[in-house]
Amino acid sequence: MDFFNKVKDSVSKGVSNVSEKSTTMIESSRIKKEISALRAHKTGMLTDLGKLVYVRFSDDKLSADEIVSKCLVIQDIDENIAVKEKELQNTLNLCDCGQRFVPEAKFCAHCGKSIGEVEE
Ligand SMILES: [Zn+2]
Repeated sequence: MDFFNKVKDSVSKGVSNVSEKSTTMIESSRIKKEISALRAHKTGMLTDLGKLVYVRFSDDKLSADEIVSKCLVIQDIDENIAVKEKELQNTLNLCDCGQRFVPEAKFCAHCGKSIGEVEE
């Protein structure tokens, strides 16, 4: 009986560790997706801005206000990306050496420690 309880205990511990890890992975891949969507948006805005500048230049109606307002939108996207990247950092695990690593990593990129069996 004692043996079975021990097995049950370690099994449920293992399961909860796994779900905790996959939650982190889901969370980090969600944020990664948001970041790449923001980057795609930014690329689109930069293309728009470039076209606008060129069209206005060709028409001899280059207006700083119009360009600045587009730049402000892009700057806003950049700030959003920075916020998301910070969020992403927070979903990463912390190594003993103080560096963060992605949940799926096998070794710490900083100190080389094997992190397959990291204690949370
Ligand atoms: Zn490390």
